[in-house]
Amino acid sequence: MTQTTRPTIGRVALVGAGPGDPELITVKGVRLLREADVVIYDNLVGDGILDLISPTAERIFVGKMAGNHTLAQDDICRLLVDKALTGKFVVRLKGGDPFVFGRGGEELDVLLAAGIHVEIVPGVTAALGAAASFGFPLTHRDHAQSCVFITGHLKDDSVDLNWPALAQPNQTIVIYMGITGLEIISANLQAAGLPGNTPAALIYRATWPTQGIYPCQLATLSETARENMVKPPALIVIGSVMQLLKNDRVASSRPAEIQ
Ligand code: SAH
Repeated sequence: MTQTTRPTIGRVALVGAGPGDPELITVKGVRLLREADVVIYDNLVGDGILDLISPTAERIFVGKMAGNHTLAQDDICRLLVDKALTGKFVVRLKGGDPFVFGRGGEELDVLLAAGIHVEIVPGVTAALGAAASFGFPLTHRDHAQSCVFITGHLKDDSVDLNWPALAQPNQTIVIYMGITGLEIISANLQAAGLPGNTPAALIYRATWPTQGIYPCQLATLSETARENMVKPPALIVIGSVMQLLKNDRVASSRPAEIQ
C-alpha cells in the first residue's frame, strides 16, 4: 500500500449501514469501511456488514449489550473526536441512515466544532428496507400522498406528538422506536380521528434473516405485539397502503454463496 500523508486535523465519515442486509449498504460505504483505521458502530449494524471492515481496523462497539449500559452520547462524541485527532480515519457506522433518528446531527456538530473533516454517507433507512422487503408502497396514488417518519420514543411515559396532524387520511405513518409506546400511540391516533380499523403492521428486523411482519389494524396493534412477542428493533406502519401488502409474493435474493 502506498504511504499517504494524513491530515493532522482528523477525518470522520458518518456512514449509514442500511437496515441490516449487508447488500443494502452503499458502494461508497463499503469503500470507506475498507479504508477506515477505526470503526465505531452500534447495535443495529447487520453482522454481514462488519465483515466488510478492513481486518486491520480497530473496531469499537458502542451499543447496548445485555447487562451493560449504552455509552452515553457525549462519550461517543468524545471518542470520535479523540480518535480522529490522533490522525486516524474514523468511520462512525450507524444502522439505517445516520440522519434519520440516528443522532448523526449531534455528532456532526461536535466534530465540526472540533475542526474535524466530516463526510456523510447516506443509508437505506429502516422504513425503506421494510417496504421493499415485504412489498408494500409507502406512497400510492390511490392510498397515500404523504408519508411521515416519526419517533414513538417515550419521554416521561408519554409520546409527545401532534396527533391531529398525524391522524390524516391518505397518509402513511411509519413509527420508529414505538414498541414500548404502542398503546399510547394507538389510543391517541384514534382519539384524533383515525379509524380503529385503519390497516397497520408491526415489522421486526426488516431485511435481516429473522425478519417478521405482523399485519393488523390500528386498534389491535398492542395485542398483536403482545401475542407475537414483538420486540425492538421494530417499526409500526399505519395507513391504507398496508392493504397492498405483497409479503407472500416478494422475496429478497441472497448472494449465490449463501443461498
Ligand atoms: N438510523 C436508523 C434508525 C435508528 S432508530 C434508520 O435510519 O433506520 C432505531 C429504531 O429504528 C429501532 O428501534 C426500530 O424502530 C428501527 N429499526 C432500525 N432497523 C430496523 C429494521 N431492520 N427493522 C425494523 N425496524 C428497524
